[in-house]
Amino acid sequence: MKLWPNRGTQKHVRLVCTAGGPGCFGLALGGHPDVKGLVIVDVIDGGPAATWNANSSNGNNLEVGHLVVTVNGISDAQGMLEQFRNSSSVDMVISSKLSNQHRHVLRSSLGLQRRSKFVEILLETRNGEGQPCTTCSICLEEIAADGSEAKLPCAHSFHKACVRRWLIAQHLRCPLCNSDFESLLHVPVEQGD
Ligand SMILES: [Zn+2]
Ligand SMILES: [Zn+2]
Repeated sequence: MKLWPNRGTQKHVRLVCTAGGPGCFGLALGGHPDVKGLVIVDVIDGGPAATWNANSSNGNNLEVGHLVVTVNGISDAQGMLEQFRNSSSVDMVISSKLSNQHRHVLRSSLGLQRRSKFVEILLETRNGEGQPCTTCSICLEEIAADGSEAKLPCAHSFHKACVRRWLIAQHLRCPLCNSDFESLLHVPVEQGD
């Protein structure tokens, strides 16, 4: 079966969901509809992928920047994601050779992941003095004091879900006063090119 040009560098990895039901393989993956394969963006501590790494020799480890070529025999990105979501075990063919397109997917996925992590930290930090806002200016609904709100460093508050979506997908700025949080995103990305 001819699946991929770089067969010499491929390895086979089988992961089984141990807890949490289908879809918990402890891998964060990045992809693009026009690019074959899924790039590993993170190996999550304590998950099946991390356990696999702990129990296998270096050459068989799953690492950030590796490419998932097929999952359970399927090679299109959408089909592979469905396998990851719905299967309780995945047989993967992994390659360590990335094309320029794959590197691009990896870079943008890592950027998005770094931004998501930063936003989570920002939303969990107890920011700013003063009274919280009573209305979320993103969805214009009332904010209940039940832990669903998040306060930004400028002391404006919103529903956590609303402001998370805004900060990740739109701008790293307060939707209300335009305070810029981009400069707080200093953490350097570790990445070999
Ligand atoms: Zn809201
Ligand atoms: Zn603000």
